[in-house]
Amino acid sequence: MVSQDLPLFLELWQNTLHWQPTQKQQQLYQALYEQILVGNTQLNLTRITEPSDFWEKHLWDSLSGLSQINLDQLQKSLKVIDIGTGAGFPGLPIAIAYPDWQVTLLDSTRKKLIFVRQIIEHLLIENAQIVIGRSEDIAREKQQRAKYDLVTLRAVSQASVCAEYALPFLKIGGTAILYRGQWSEAENNCLKTAVELLGGEITLVHCFQTPLTQGIRHCVYLTKIAETSEIYPRQIGIPTQQPLGVNL
Ligand code: SAM
Repeated sequence: MVSQDLPLFLELWQNTLHWQPTQKQQQLYQALYEQILVGNTQLNLTRITEPSDFWEKHLWDSLSGLSQINLDQLQKSLKVIDIGTGAGFPGLPIAIAYPDWQVTLLDSTRKKLIFVRQIIEHLLIENAQIVIGRSEDIAREKQQRAKYDLVTLRAVSQASVCAEYALPFLKIGGTAILYRGQWSEAENNCLKTAVELLGGEITLVHCFQTPLTQGIRHCVYLTKIAETSEIYPRQIGIPTQQPLGVNL
């Protein structure tokens, strides 16, 4: 394992996302990078290890989803849950960028989350906490249901499955951000049907390119406009076996 310095790319942060990390945040991102490299030797967390790749595909990509949230919202103290966080993405870079937010990192894979907890403790990220479990179960807990302003999901499942995981966690008026690569009309149609059943609506599909390698990305924004019926999320595994909005 060779740990190298992450590039700072301060102008690139500013020009693309209209934000740049403070010196303390730069140090935290460097420390996060080093911790992920260490964890990778045992847990096979990510193939993205080269410094500029890590900067673009883990750090920049994690924060890119927030670029379409309005400034008033960003300045509030938001409650966020990152479902299927894996090694902590996009949740950890978000927690570092917004120390006033409360960020919950949820995943069903215990060993990954125990590692994420070590990172949180090592880097003293006081506004992040882990929850181990399946989102279908956790979303039924009274202290978790309809308690969040923002939900993020990156590389977790197909979009309508992500919607079923996400919307039960949101307060009315809250936003779910689905981080996607490509996006198609067929996916959009399935998602639209699913989201309507769940008490939400698709408010925006934002297409953009990553700043170093020009990879195509889409962030799909869902707003919760009504309470989600008690029947959602369905039991563990059903959302993926019978995705809402998909004619099987
Ligand atoms: N979001 C991270 C990223 O972008 O690097 C990790 C993506 S990884 C491919 C997908 C993760 O979602 C896995 O760690 C898996 O355990 C988790 N996951 C999938 N379905 C889940 C569910 N229903 N509840 C909790 N975690 C789930």
